[in-house]
Amino acid sequence: MKKLHPVLPAARERALIDNDAYLAMYQQSVEDPEGFWTEQAGRLDWFKPFSRVKDVSWDADDLHVRWFDDGVLNACYNCVDRHLETRGDQTAILWEGDDPARDEAITYRQLHSRVSRMANVLKELGVVKGDRVTLYMPMIPEAAIAMLACARIGAAHSVVFGGFSPDALAGRIVDCESKLVITADEGLRGGRKVPLKANVDAAKSRPGVMDHLESVLVVRNTDAGVPMQDGVDHWLHEREADVADDCPCEPMGAEDPLFILYTSGSTGKPKGVLHTTGGYLLYAAYTHEIVFDYQDGDIYWCTADVGWITGHSYIVYGPLANGAITMMFEGVPNYPDYSRFWQVVDKHQVNICYTAPTAIRALMREGEGPVKATSRQSLRLLGSVGEPINPEAWEWYYNVVGEGRCPIVDTWWQTETGGIMISPLPGATDLKPGSATRPLPGIKPALLDADGNTLEGEAEGLLVITDSWPGQMRTVYGDHARFVKTYFSAFRNRYFTGDGCRRDKDGYYWITGRVDDVLNISGHRMGTAEVESALVAHKAVAEAAVVGYPHDIKGQGIYVYVTLNAGIEPTEELRAELRQWVRKEIGPIATPDLIQWAPGLPKTRSGKIMRRILRKIAENEYGNLGDTSTLADPDVVDDLIANRLNR
Ligand code: ATP
Ligand code: MG
Repeated sequence: MKKLHPVLPAARERALIDNDAYLAMYQQSVEDPEGFWTEQAGRLDWFKPFSRVKDVSWDADDLHVRWFDDGVLNACYNCVDRHLETRGDQTAILWEGDDPARDEAITYRQLHSRVSRMANVLKELGVVKGDRVTLYMPMIPEAAIAMLACARIGAAHSVVFGGFSPDALAGRIVDCESKLVITADEGLRGGRKVPLKANVDAAKSRPGVMDHLESVLVVRNTDAGVPMQDGVDHWLHEREADVADDCPCEPMGAEDPLFILYTSGSTGKPKGVLHTTGGYLLYAAYTHEIVFDYQDGDIYWCTADVGWITGHSYIVYGPLANGAITMMFEGVPNYPDYSRFWQVVDKHQVNICYTAPTAIRALMREGEGPVKATSRQSLRLLGSVGEPINPEAWEWYYNVVGEGRCPIVDTWWQTETGGIMISPLPGATDLKPGSATRPLPGIKPALLDADGNTLEGEAEGLLVITDSWPGQMRTVYGDHARFVKTYFSAFRNRYFTGDGCRRDKDGYYWITGRVDDVLNISGHRMGTAEVESALVAHKAVAEAAVVGYPHDIKGQGIYVYVTLNAGIEPTEELRAELRQWVRKEIGPIATPDLIQWAPGLPKTRSGKIMRRILRKIAENEYGNLGDTSTLADPDVVDDLIANRLNR
């Protein structure tokens, strides 16, 4: 199962970075970090160069993170304007609609004019440098255009996923005191309409919202007739009719805010992560180029929503800063049918496809048929992000989707890190299914034990980063104390990721899951990823989630939620078989105590399993589930509570 996939010759040949180059680059980044990052900063256009590279203290009493502090630049200029001369007529954004009949290619020149016009409308509505603007958008080009328009005039955007409720939206508007919301009449997903404007209207009535909110700018998308409030709501197309096609880029300090983004909420109340202009943009561009081996003309598709950090860094900022062709997809993997992803790949001749384990597992559940119905010959690289990818799913992605031709980059990172931190490089890294492999040049991870001692060599412990990198978050918006407490109070001068991790003899990193989720069975600590991967490797199992619950003898017992593959009947025999299976795969210590059949698992809107909710149910504490505002499908939870086993 855990076999090695050596670098593919074709990938090595084309890539800019082979293994020797990786090792040399890594070495340089460790020996001379300031020199390394100064060189990397050359990928951006600066209005005024910086004189100081780095001013960082991770000391909890004086925590500050500043990069390229006195440099001046504009993110939108770097993503749009500077490409006009060399690639004005090249496609910047390739948009594919929810409806397979709809698509659009937007060149850099067109992007420039659309961004400038929207920026001028924002200015007319009173938005000035330093303001916050909330985006509540479907996956249409205007979502990216709105982000860039904010960046152009120096307003920080806060993108709220279009699937969130009016309450979640209201909370995020109030938290960052947004003056303006940009939305659309409706969104479209999987053939269904999403009432975005109606949700904004509902949010307006929530306490505190209208203390800050002055205007709502509405994009006409489905042409649904939506009520417009006089003096507050404005149609974009009407306001745009009489603004100039040209809008200067605001000169921004490198440390001026670029955006605020709330985390997924897998572990608790979402945090308003603040990223700034210079360091973030540079880090997004750098990682997008090296991890995806992005070269001119490649057609690149990241399937994430712009509501997540993945969409920010790897649909919008990284690719556009690199002058890439970036695809934006409005739809879902199973509409009109389970072949959709691969139909899109064929239609647009996509070369690079970056998606999440949750999507891969969902597609795998339907078998190989929908994949094999398509060609996929254009693909050369696959990517994964969001959760540990189970080796079983990895092999399926590699062999069935990629036909063994395409390396997989399993990218570990966080909203807080701004960009990818640990990942293979396609031309450099031998792959091990389930491992994010090695740190990128410039990134120094370490494993600690619970007392903060650094573990060397082969080890398992808490994943920390020991030195700052430009893409690092700067603070929790409006709550610097929470920033200090969450990331820098556990270990002195270390950034604590919250994830557990194992390092193997080759120096490869294996994320074992969130530290909050670690199991402790009779004194043996165990990550959730390993047990879940063993279960998913069984032919009957589509998806599994593992949590601990109080157990008289073992301290903690293993409680497992299992979703079966399409068409498989849950039986007592199967339950016994799965227990034996895990026992054989990992060892007696990992034998599940309770196995509950789960028609679905509670997930965040970005598709991550929310184990903290499963833990409450397993502990029979289902009355107290904590913050569930980012839960995708609350009905799933009701079913799990009704059928819980530990009562
Ligand atoms: P919150 O911080 O609000 O609980 P979250 O951690 O889910 O939410 P994100 O920043 O979206 O918010 O997710 C980052 C986390 O996702 C990482 O800390 C890690 O646990 C997990 N993750 C992301 N990519 C990978 C990967 N390739 N392998 C393993 N885990 C991953
Ligand atoms: Mg997190």
